[in-house]
Amino acid sequence: YPLHLGVTEAGTPSMGMVKSAMGIGGLLCMGIGDTIRVTLTADPVEEIYAAKKILRAAGLRKEGVNLIACPTCGRTRIDLIPMAEEVERRLANCKKNITVAVMGCAVNGPGEAAAADVGIAGGKGEGLIFRKGEILYKVPQERLVDALMEEIEKL
Ligand code: SF4
Repeated sequence: YPLHLGVTEAGTPSMGMVKSAMGIGGLLCMGIGDTIRVTLTADPVEEIYAAKKILRAAGLRKEGVNLIACPTCGRTRIDLIPMAEEVERRLANCKKNITVAVMGCAVNGPGEAAAADVGIAGGKGEGLIFRKGEILYKVPQERLVDALMEEIEKL
């Protein structure tokens, strides 16, 4: 029989995601489980996104964007957190099996994210678009996310 995995009454998204990832993801990583359901006290759409993230983190779902973003540090020259959130939101339904990077500085960003298929790195009032660590061009900060989306369209 197929074995169904879920963590019931996991709670609101912040803690519910952690419990679900540990409970469901832990078993999946041991090769246990055939179907899953994530239950959160949230819009059911959030449950679907959470399930996709768990499958992706467990290496069982290849479809969709792997978004990487730097943790920010003293070198960060851009308001990175809302930018990373916007990129994640805009790519939520993208089916391309690619890695996209959102990095805080032009000094280390492209190198640290050299494995990414495409990425952006923040500068002062502007930013870089790079692909596999190679810098392509500069754009003004307000165009950065749109330019990234255009590059992703080309992949
Ligand atoms: S990419 Fe730049 S801003 Fe981000 S953590 Fe690395 S050095 Fe800091």
